[in-house]
Amino acid sequence: KTQIMPTLDDWSEMDKIKHKILVLSGKGGVGKSTVSTQLALYLAHIGKKVGFLDVDLCGPSAPKMFGLESKEVHKSSAGWIPVYVDPETRNLGVISIQFLLGDKDTPVIWRGPKKNSMIKQFLQDVCWGELDYLIIDTPPGTSDEHISVTEELLKYNPDGAILVTTPQGVSISDVRKEISFCQKLGLPIIGIVENMSGYTCPHCSECTNIFSSEGGRLLAEQCSLPFLGKMPIDPLLTVCSEQGKNYFTEYPNSSTLVALKEVATSL
Ligand code: ADP
Repeated sequence: KTQIMPTLDDWSEMDKIKHKILVLSGKGGVGKSTVSTQLALYLAHIGKKVGFLDVDLCGPSAPKMFGLESKEVHKSSAGWIPVYVDPETRNLGVISIQFLLGDKDTPVIWRGPKKNSMIKQFLQDVCWGELDYLIIDTPPGTSDEHISVTEELLKYNPDGAILVTTPQGVSISDVRKEISFCQKLGLPIIGIVENMSGYTCPHCSECTNIFSSEGGRLLAEQCSLPFLGKMPIDPLLTVCSEQGKNYFTEYPNSSTLVALKEVATSL
């Protein structure tokens, strides 16, 4: 008996995903990958089924942050199988270009068309299964390349974008560009997250605003966008990201967890 299987064109894996969320930033170094990886870990921590797609092809840092640096992705007849942070629960699957390159020190020097075709494959050929959330970490900026990545992602009806900024004026002005970029492309904006928002002293719990404060909140107000929350600078978070440890199991009462809880309520 011949069984007719649906093809990827008429039954996309993407249709099995309830929420698709892009994480964007106007420039590198503001903590976009930290916010997106920690958000994915948090959602998995509260019992959601989560996928993480790293399309930051120039600087894929998610494998390291998830502690999956030496892993390789496998392809089955149905498509690529994500690498699971916990192979037993399989509640957080990750796909990154880094898994295909093998050597973590090899830079991705590809021109636009090759990058686009890789992103297309990422979007069509990964067997995510049923997911509550797919978090997509995108390359920073608003260049042509960024436009084509976003246009490709738009075909799959994402819920929208979370914009990450730091509180200083320079980063804020980059986020303004990012807002108009989303508006031009018709990508809905879920809201703004302010990262590196003050430093809470681990000894006396006093919060010092290292950069000017409240920039993200003010920007959100001015642009009539939701302000999703503030993530403090947390040295323990840096250590966990660098060592690929799960921050929430290591530090279950952290201020970062409180911040992400607030962000997650808006999703
Ligand atoms: P981006 O993706 O925007 O380039 P990253 O997420 O790679 O930025 O962050 C840059 C560096 O800053 C990393 O070393 C990361 O661990 C650190 N970092 C980011 N956000 C925080 C935070 N809230 N607390 C402590 N360290 C952070």
